[in-house]
Formats: sequence, C-alpha cells, structure tokens
Amino acid sequence: MADVTIIGGGIIGLCSSVALQDRGYSVELIERGELGMGASYGNCGLLAPGEVVPVSRPGVIRKIPRWLLDPEGPLFVRPSALARDLTWLLKFLRAGREDTVRHIASSLAPMMKRVNADYGHLLEAIGRPDLLSQVENLMLFNDRSEYERDRFTWNLRRELGFDHTFISGSQVKELEPAIEGPITCGVIMKDWYHFTDPLALTRALAEEVVRRGGRIVPGEALSFEAERGRIRRVKLRSGARIDTKQVVLSAGAWSGLLSRQLGLRIPLAHLSGYHVHAPHPQVHLERATYYASGGFVLTPMATGLRIGGTIEIAGADPKPNFRRADVLAERAKMILPALDIADSTRWMGARPFIPDTMPVIGRAPAFENVTLAFGHGQVGMTLGATTGQIVAQIIANEQPAVDIIPFRPQRFA
Ligand SMILES: Cc1cc2nc3c(=O)[nH]c(=O)nc-3n(C[C@H](O)[C@H](O)[C@H](O)COP(=O)(O)OP(=O)(O)OC[C@H]3O[C@@H](n4cnc5c(N)ncnc54)[C@H](O)[C@@H]3O)c2cc1C
Repeated sequence: MADVTIIGGGIIGLCSSVALQDRGYSVELIERGELGMGASYGNCGLLAPGEVVPVSRPGVIRKIPRWLLDPEGPLFVRPSALARDLTWLLKFLRAGREDTVRHIASSLAPMMKRVNADYGHLLEAIGRPDLLSQVENLMLFNDRSEYERDRFTWNLRRELGFDHTFISGSQVKELEPAIEGPITCGVIMKDWYHFTDPLALTRALAEEVVRRGGRIVPGEALSFEAERGRIRRVKLRSGARIDTKQVVLSAGAWSGLLSRQLGLRIPLAHLSGYHVHAPHPQVHLERATYYASGGFVLTPMATGLRIGGTIEIAGADPKPNFRRADVLAERAKMILPALDIADSTRWMGARPFIPDTMPVIGRAPAFENVTLAFGHGQVGMTLGATTGQIVAQIIANEQPAVDIIPFRPQRFA
C-alpha cells in the first residue's frame, strides 16, 4: 500500500505527487483518462502571479445582460445552465463586493509570491527549466481608457506587490513587431511568464513520479470506504478497491461528487474555456500576450501559437460550442493579420471554479486522512507547484508555507 493515494493526474495531482515524494512518501496516482489531458492540457499557459483579483469584482454586475445575450462574448451563460447554476452565480456575484475582493486578493497574494521560486525548483529538479519561458507577458489595449477603467485592479495588484509597466503603442511594436491593428498601448506584467508546453510539463512530471517509484493507476475513483473517521479504501468504477493510508483529492472540476461523499457541499462549477492551436502560425511572438480589448490570450508555445480564453457557464461536461473557438481565431487575426491557422486544432476544457475564485486546500473536516486540493479556477497552472508544496506540508504535519485558512474546505458552511 502506498503512503498517499492521489485522485486526479492534472497539474495539481502531479505537483502534489512530486512534492510528497520529495519528503519520502510513496505515492499512487489514480487517473481515469490520460494524465495531464484535463484543463492542464488546453490552458493558455500563463504563469500569472499577479492574477490575485477575482473574476467577480466591483462593476461586474452591470455586465450580466451582455453575458446572457452575446454567445460570442468573452463571458457567456448558456440559458440551459442559468437555472442549474443560479445559486453558484449569485455567490459569484456576491464575491465581487469591494471588501470581499480585497480579502480574496490579499489571501491569494502570499501563495502567488511563491509561484516563481516553487516552479524554478521543481523544473530544475525534473531537468526541464526550458518549459518556462523567461520573457515577461504583455497586455494590449485598443485605448488607454480601457486600462484606466480597471484602475481598481491595477492599484490593488500594486498594493499587494505585483507591479506592471505601462508602455506606448510604439513600444509595443518594438517588443512585438508582428502586432498590428488598433492597439494604442500595453502593459508589461512584472514576473508573469509562460509555460512553453503545458502537456510536456505534465508528462515530464508524470515521468518523474514513475522514475521515483510512484505508481499510476488507470481508473475512475467512484467512492470511498470509511472506518472510524478515516478513509480506508478508494473504490474504482471497475469495482477494484485500493487500500489507502492518506488520500489527496485533486480531480479538478470533477472533485465535487467525491467531496460530497466526504460530507462537504462545495460550490464547484465547470467554467468552460476554449482554444485554437495553430501549429504553423507564420507569425512570431516572443511573449505571451493578453489582448485585453479582445478578451483572449496568444501564447507562443513549442508546438505553435495558442489562442485561448473565454469563459462559458454551460453546466458540467457540456457539448462544446466551437463557434466560440472560431471567434477567438477571427479576433486574433485583427491584431495578427498574417496569422495562418491551417491545420489548427480546437479544444474545450473546464476550469474548476469556486465562486470566490480561491482554491480549496486543506484537510477534509470529517476525515483527517483526506486532503483536498482543487478549484484553482483560472490560475491552476500558476499555482500548481505551490499547491503541491502545501499539500505535502499538510500531510507531513509541517507548518504550511502560507496561511491556508482562507482556502479551508469548510468555508462554505
Ligand atoms: C481556456 C483555459 C485557459 C486557462 N489558462 C490558464 C493560464 O493561462 N494560467 C493558469 O494558471 N491557469 C489557466 N487555466 C486554468 C488551469 O488550466 C486549471 O486551473 C488547472 O489546469 C486545473 O488543474 P487540475 O489538476 O486541478 O485539473 P485538471 O487538469 O482538469 O485535472 C484533473 C484530472 O482529474 C481526472 N479525474 C477527474 N475525476 C476523476 C476521478 N473520479 N478518478 C480519477 N481521475 C479523475 C481528470 O481526468 C483530469 O485528468 C486555464 C483554463 C482554461 C480552461
């Protein structure tokens, strides 16, 4: 029997596995599909430490009519999901009050301050520092007023130690000559970088887990068997039972069902996102670039240019509406006219999203041998290595590197 059974082989489960192995624990990782092929595959690949301000923020409520009416807009709520996710949406909107936003941002900040160093050590340890580009991200605006409108966010980030530099349109052009179109200014995001290949990252982590003696168990974790306040076995859909000493639940957007069996009702929604991945883009970008006025990210990856983003509230495991991905490619051509999307692929995936945009990290209150680590929303890639460290610290009964009280699973009671 392994020391720790980890459910879910995305960035969170894999980083947790390696961090536990660092402390001498043996691990087994249960994955129902292919390792790293959940949200950790198709994301935009940003390492975005300053992304501490939640998606729901002051003023967001005014945008709701647009969210409901424009299926091609950056955030869309499918009418079919509205009734089912209404309670979640109300909680999400409530988290956008200024005092709550300040609390969320300052709770996430200590974790975010660690992400660069934690990934630095992890990538060094697995011999793949090349998987993180060292060129800072860029944000683009059609008009300075769009940047000014978000002053609250910029100020809050700066107060918490996440800086940026405002630059002119001609400076944008110097940095990224391929960019054209209506851009008049930009912002360089200090210490924000990008992963050059998210799938290569999760694969390298999985190889490391196995190289250190970890076991990958194919199968879907379905339920738990408990005795005297501890989970003793994880039952798989195949009927197999896995004896366990400690469990980590890191099944991304699908963690809700299993956490309910632990007596927890955690408001976890699937927030779908899309990408178009162009293998031969015929344009060169040096850095990951968020086109704020268009609502999408362009990330130069080892395998091509990824155009990704958008949020769609469409319920759990919805059928993809690839028109949303096509719109991303069309809008990308507005600022990269030479972009070639021949042979491109389209993808939809689910961000595991909690209304307050903070992850759930901590022990399950009723089962002290279960640690929860999911709900990382739009920053799960960014927080992967640091979450892994915290999970290992919890299990090893060490003092976590940051205050994890704000992330506790029982905060929704
Ligand atoms: C379009 C888009 C863009 C994004 N861009 C960024 C970005 O630029 N930067 C950033 O930091 N984050 C970004 N994110 C968010 C980030 O991708 C996620 O927060 C992160 O990947 C979540 O990781 P995870 O390990 O929790 O989940 P996942 O990667 O989804 O992994 C969960 C795994 O658990 C497995 N699983 C589920 N249920 C079971 C079960 N019962 N038994 C066994 N296995 C199970 C699944 O098969 C899956 O492999 C983006 C997300 C999207 C959708």
